[in-house]
Amino acid sequence: MSQDLDELFSKNRDWAAAQEKRQPGFFTRLLGQQTPQYLWIGCADSRVPANELVGLLPGELFVHRNVANLVVHTDLNALSVIQFAVDGLKVQHIIVVGHSQCGGVKAALAGARLGLVDNWLRHVQDVRDQHAALLEQIPEALRVDALVELNVLEQARNVCHTTVVKDAWARGQSVVVHGWVYGLHNGLLQDLRITAGGPEDVMPAYKKGLERVARRYLAEV
Ligand SMILES: [Zn+2]
Repeated sequence: MSQDLDELFSKNRDWAAAQEKRQPGFFTRLLGQQTPQYLWIGCADSRVPANELVGLLPGELFVHRNVANLVVHTDLNALSVIQFAVDGLKVQHIIVVGHSQCGGVKAALAGARLGLVDNWLRHVQDVRDQHAALLEQIPEALRVDALVELNVLEQARNVCHTTVVKDAWARGQSVVVHGWVYGLHNGLLQDLRITAGGPEDVMPAYKKGLERVARRYLAEV
């Protein structure tokens, strides 16, 4: 095996050539500016490649990924991405995307000790503890996916509570926040329908989303 990862450079050359062949001048046009309409906040999991699974090209999707797709109020990394996306790029949509069988959520649910990441996953455990009464009623085999959805609900609400999004809404800028879940087993995205396009939407959307999670998972009991 090459230490220089030649195979990746070779694949990259093939990809760039194919892209340029499909759309001549593609890269030169992108040099000018990027005008993505969407900010994707997803999990770092290698099985959830943002652009590929929604069929978007470079320049069309602004992406932030971390373990378990968290939006923590003091995370300057995520907040800076959100600010640049909203204030700079003027994205119209911010989508928080969780995925089934998320390893981070699984570890958080089980209280596994993995090292430094435990402190990051503590945020997911806060979600777990907040919804403990509901999770306890859900069959154990379904609890990871239920917590994945609850986590998306909470993180999407966190996006709505950022100063960046609140300020954008206050000045009349159109920003719509969504919560989705990606199914590792079938490659399909599911809309949790917690869409919020203004401050008045946030709590009703969150409550309805929560009710739907409860109804769906408790129906399995
Ligand atoms: Zn994950």
